[in-house]
Amino acid sequence: MKKAIHFCSTIVILFVLSCAPKDDIHEVIIIGGGLMGSASAWHLSQDAEVLLLEKQDSIYDSGSSLGQARIARSSNRGSDMWSYMHNTSVGEVEKLIDFLNEKTDEGGFKMSDIYTTQPVSYLGKLTIYDKLLASLIRQEVDYKMADTPAEGKSMFDVDLPADVLLQREYNYYSGTLNPEQLINYLHEGVKLNKGQVKYNTEVKSLEKVNGLYVIELHDNSNGVSTVLKAKQVVSAAGPYTGELLGSIAPYFKDLINPQRVFLAYYKIRKSIYESMNESDLQKLKDAYPVINSSKGTRDGTFFSMIEYYEDGIPVIKVGGHFQRSDIEEMDKVWDVALDEKEKDWSFNSTMGYFNLLGLPINEEDLIYDHGYSCVYSLTDNEVPLVTPVLDPNGKEDNSMVVLGGMSGVGAKGAMTYGMLAADIINDRESRTDTMYTHARSVMGISRLVDFVK
Ligand SMILES: Cc1cc2nc3c(=O)[nH]c(=O)nc-3n(C[C@H](O)[C@H](O)[C@H](O)COP(=O)(O)OP(=O)(O)OC[C@H]3O[C@@H](n4cnc5c(N)ncnc54)[C@H](O)[C@@H]3O)c2cc1C
Repeated sequence: MKKAIHFCSTIVILFVLSCAPKDDIHEVIIIGGGLMGSASAWHLSQDAEVLLLEKQDSIYDSGSSLGQARIARSSNRGSDMWSYMHNTSVGEVEKLIDFLNEKTDEGGFKMSDIYTTQPVSYLGKLTIYDKLLASLIRQEVDYKMADTPAEGKSMFDVDLPADVLLQREYNYYSGTLNPEQLINYLHEGVKLNKGQVKYNTEVKSLEKVNGLYVIELHDNSNGVSTVLKAKQVVSAAGPYTGELLGSIAPYFKDLINPQRVFLAYYKIRKSIYESMNESDLQKLKDAYPVINSSKGTRDGTFFSMIEYYEDGIPVIKVGGHFQRSDIEEMDKVWDVALDEKEKDWSFNSTMGYFNLLGLPINEEDLIYDHGYSCVYSLTDNEVPLVTPVLDPNGKEDNSMVVLGGMSGVGAKGAMTYGMLAADIINDRESRTDTMYTHARSVMGISRLVDFVK
């Protein structure tokens, strides 16, 4: 049955293609307007006519980039790829902000709209985290580290268990990054470069016919279907990548494994929060964002941050990198409610952290606000892919680039992943440093070649 549907849709596409006017051919189409597609579109729009297609309305309610805060961090160690992705991204955000200020009369775009500079805290179990400890010591950002209860008290005024270390790093534009705002600014930048961003536009099928990409679209706001053509395509459909590329690059279905994760949001009771003294309020603020592995288990590990303030009260988000489960139906996963076990896990993680911090907040004063499910797109080694596809003969085809497998690490480096994608499409290298070459290589085509062998 699936084969028959595919055959019919190919006939329709071929028919539309033969009737379509020649000027309907786009230079480059980007599919997916999350962080990765938006960053790619922005970079590409500086040299070409781009069209960015996003199936959601302009205010998103799903996707891995949903929300207002992600941890952004860098140890500044030259050999650390994640630091490189973050630091390069910060520089690219600066360029975007300058561009927006130059091109608009408003002039009010600021780095602080995107980044909230905050110390980043790490808690780890000493016995297990010897390696972590060594790597933390080698880092080049300003940091403080306590690995005894006495140091915990004197450095941070916290009750550190005997076998736990707390490290806090201080780095400009490290802390949290706002994906929602960055996506908005990127779309603004694309439009100012005369590119187009189309919302409610879902790609239903993608074929390569006579050297051109033929893309069947569905307008989710009015139900109208159309077909477009493009010389080049960037696929940044997040967890939908495997499904989207089924007929062009079917191996992505196996290369990228989407898993459900969940996020829970808590508020401190208003009366309690307002009664806290200045030093406790500052302690709470300084304690976020945090990556807390103090239990020494995958299940006990969590990340947490202040996502936003509501009515003057911080709304604290908590989630677990390893709190993953299988997905039954992708389109429905975003609506799966948190179960009681997940809420308890989030609550206990947060309360445990408050106790370690010695904050005057009791269990009855920590109130569940809301929660939702989202998705990690995982590769086998959890390193993302930014790669050309393979043509039917197994050769590299730079006319299509796929960004995928961004799991829980992509946001802080989004601008750099987008730059890599644009560089592949444009067959150029924006940078000459060794980390650029390294990143391009470890995320690149050799992983596809090895996989399809
Ligand atoms: C819970 C969680 C916590 C995270 N924490 C951090 C963190 O602290 N620090 C960090 O650096 N990173 C973090 N990340 C990772 C980061 O958020 C992701 O790497 C990033 O958001 C992935 O962006 P994306 O563009 O690849 O995917 P998405 O945001 O999912 O974008 C894909 C877009 O494509 C659209 N789309 C899909 N199919 C189609 C189609 N057929 N037609 C048109 N449009 C389509 C979707 O609607 C969506 O908007 C976290 C991720 C999650 C889920």
